[in-house]
Amino acid sequence: MATLPSRYPAAVWTPYPQWPTGNYTDTNHYKVVWHKTQGGDGVLNWYPRSGGIPKFTILSTGVVHQHYSMNKYDRALRNQSGGVQTNLDGAISIEMVGFVGQGSTTEQLVAMRKLSAWFVEIGIKTGWLNGPPTTGARTRLSQNAWDNGRGHCGHVDVPENDHTDPRFVSKEIAAIESAWNGTGSMLTTTPREEWYKLYNQANPLVENSVVSEVQDFLKHAALGPDGKLKRYYGFTTDGKRGAVTDAALRNWKIDRWGNPDAGTKIGSKAWNEINRQLFMVHVQEDVAPVNPVDCSAVIAKLATSEAKVAELEAKIAGAQRELA
Ligand SMILES: [Zn+2]
Repeated sequence: MATLPSRYPAAVWTPYPQWPTGNYTDTNHYKVVWHKTQGGDGVLNWYPRSGGIPKFTILSTGVVHQHYSMNKYDRALRNQSGGVQTNLDGAISIEMVGFVGQGSTTEQLVAMRKLSAWFVEIGIKTGWLNGPPTTGARTRLSQNAWDNGRGHCGHVDVPENDHTDPRFVSKEIAAIESAWNGTGSMLTTTPREEWYKLYNQANPLVENSVVSEVQDFLKHAALGPDGKLKRYYGFTTDGKRGAVTDAALRNWKIDRWGNPDAGTKIGSKAWNEINRQLFMVHVQEDVAPVNPVDCSAVIAKLATSEAKVAELEAKIAGAQRELA
């Protein structure tokens, strides 16, 4: 394939010239290698000391830094003597700030999708070389598969290496794959308030990050005071909107609003409610990790505040009647 455009237009150029680079030994087999930093945004200050510098770093804010030209090798992979070349064999390493299995921020997901879409534009092959890198326990690519492979993989898949990152969650996989199948462009151009429209249009066969988000929400919503799952959710978050997700959403709406005719789509009211509750869950998580046993206290508080709101509403209605 030969030469690539040297800079990703949406990136901040942050070079580390003290850690030199050079030409790739192979420009016919470009491989995007995804990583997790296992740390925070301070990694940009750590790179000069470690020297393990990738092509790109995506900060928690979604800001993308580019450290080497697309046409020069980067330095995020280990390379043992003998065997294959790793960094030099067309590898394009991307460090996601964060931790394995912990997911990415919404801003990072959008940035991942945009960068992946740019890779498609410049002709880098889509698809996983060894399946989506969601686990740390798997067999690495053989030297031959690495050498002759094109496409995407995780650090966990690279021969001669022992790291098992990035262990992406389904939303991260969906952000990348949506760029490959073209469904993601709407995610970046649609305001979050209207993402429910993307949910309603989701192809049941294609993983979609908005669907993953709703499924994760239903999982939280399904935890009863006893810590057991209620009827909303009995399946794995797979980002695919099928009959099971439809039924779970419908059951949640029936329980929330008491309307037995509730449908299987999300309207602005349901979306606002999902976001309101997601926000509350996040506030809880900031204070302490969510423990299903503790849910009763949260639910009791919620009931108390809802009762107070009802009381105030009754008072207002009464006052209005008196005025009328
Ligand atoms: Zn790594």
